[in-house]
Amino acid sequence: MGEMREQARDYLEGERRDVARYNVDGIIRDAWINGNGSEETWKAAVEKNRYPFLVGDRVRVVVEIDGFQEHLYGILHSFRTASNGIYRRRILNPHSAYVELVDGPSGALRPLSEITPELDDFEITTEHSEVHRDGPRHNYGIFHCVSGIHAGYPPPAHALVTHKRSGIKRRFCNDCNDADQRARLGHEMWRDRQLSRDTILSLTEHPEVITASVGDDEADKIRAWADVVPYLVPEKAAELYTEWKESQSATVAA
Ligand SMILES: [Zn+2]
Repeated sequence: MGEMREQARDYLEGERRDVARYNVDGIIRDAWINGNGSEETWKAAVEKNRYPFLVGDRVRVVVEIDGFQEHLYGILHSFRTASNGIYRRRILNPHSAYVELVDGPSGALRPLSEITPELDDFEITTEHSEVHRDGPRHNYGIFHCVSGIHAGYPPPAHALVTHKRSGIKRRFCNDCNDADQRARLGHEMWRDRQLSRDTILSLTEHPEVITASVGDDEADKIRAWADVVPYLVPEKAAELYTEWKESQSATVAA
């Protein structure tokens, strides 16, 4: 078995896979002992014997706070059985996991199907022309890292990170484009919602307010707010606002 294990590990590394994320003995059993050893069999065995999550993984869960479904980030702490017990050994398909949240409520127990790798929530581009598109003229068109952790003059940004759910974008240097900074970025939507709770609730109840005529104090304020945090605008109000903007530009054109 020892030699087979070594060979299997070599193969996995050759395929640029992280060996720690695989049940190597399971792969050997399925591909070489019970299987015919063909490339197809190997592929299927590798697929089947991958641990979807490991303790220490950075993940995202959905937590209901004040009636809103917030996406919160944390660290996978332990796997749990259906009765919330701890597994004695590592298994491929644990029932659920306890996630220690990095901010807000302390933790969340969720079935594995409701846990998402944090990286899935972000779009990351490192293309220089994309990262520095419309960059500040006073700085030769180069944006700085905005993590806020650099003492003195921050280094140039290397990555443009977009939180897919909200569309919020931030530019980070390579060092700062990590799970902690991305969690902070991901939590902005939740933070913004906490600050805008009353506006959101009243717009949910009276979405038509957003279409009141220009010069209407309340409507003007709400539209200015909606332009800053479009991801917080309740669905019906967002629809009405889009229509309203179209009719406004049509009026101007006519
Ligand atoms: Zn940085």
